[in-house]
Amino acid sequence: MVRELLNNAAKKLSFSETPLLDARILLAKAMNKENAALIFEEPDDVQKDAFNAYIEQRAKGVPLAYILGEKEFMGLSFKLNEDTLIPRPDTECLVEKVIEKCTFHAPNILDLCSGSGCIGISLVKFIDNATCDLTDISENAMKAEKENAKLNHVENRTKIFRLDILTDEIEKGYDIIVSNPPYIRSNIVPTLEVSEYEPCLALDGGSDGLDFYRVIAKKAYNALSEGGMLALEIGYDQGEDVKSLLKDFTSVEVYKDYGQNDRVIIAIK
Ligand code: GLN
Repeated sequence: MVRELLNNAAKKLSFSETPLLDARILLAKAMNKENAALIFEEPDDVQKDAFNAYIEQRAKGVPLAYILGEKEFMGLSFKLNEDTLIPRPDTECLVEKVIEKCTFHAPNILDLCSGSGCIGISLVKFIDNATCDLTDISENAMKAEKENAKLNHVENRTKIFRLDILTDEIEKGYDIIVSNPPYIRSNIVPTLEVSEYEPCLALDGGSDGLDFYRVIAKKAYNALSEGGMLALEIGYDQGEDVKSLLKDFTSVEVYKDYGQNDRVIIAIK
């Protein structure tokens, strides 16, 4: 019985907030079905083996998104690998704010530390005629971005290239620069549950967590066109610190996420 199979698997996932749902989703993956709620037939032996292997991984704590190799963000699907963070719902607040505040026609966007590409690709999808340069230090993240641009049909409006924002210079003339850079303090990173499976390179913002913001504040200011917008995701306690790094900009506003924590800064040149 499918129900029994799912219930037994769910028992192994008791640490999860949604054990039965996790099991259902993994069974759907093993059986190559779209909707886990509509599985009535038994899996065959190959599918059962695949299912058991997924459940074993999940039981070890591997996030569902990494087992599935993808995550939904802004209603779009994004492929992931071990060098990309899992897109967070809070990061949707950053994307939504940029869409809301964008006054440009066909803006030329730069996404720094773009990871899976979820921010830049969503912006291109939701802002008419926008184009975006997606840049990351990780070649492996760039592979995921390439796939994601294709999957979301924006290959012709995105360019992907390697950029180490800490050492490389950026071209001038962007209307919007967005970034969700690594911002966790180095000593906190190992204490975070997420650091067990998610890439530390994408989390570690240096001893005070502000290394990337210090560099981005300067380089983005120089690279933005007049009236251009810098939009950053920040840690819940970094609003004041990052604001004080953005003194050159004419206006700087901090916005909250769904949990009422400071999460987004928008600065206008
Ligand atoms: N928001 C992420 C977390 O919860 C951190 C993302 C980042 O460092 N850019 O771990």
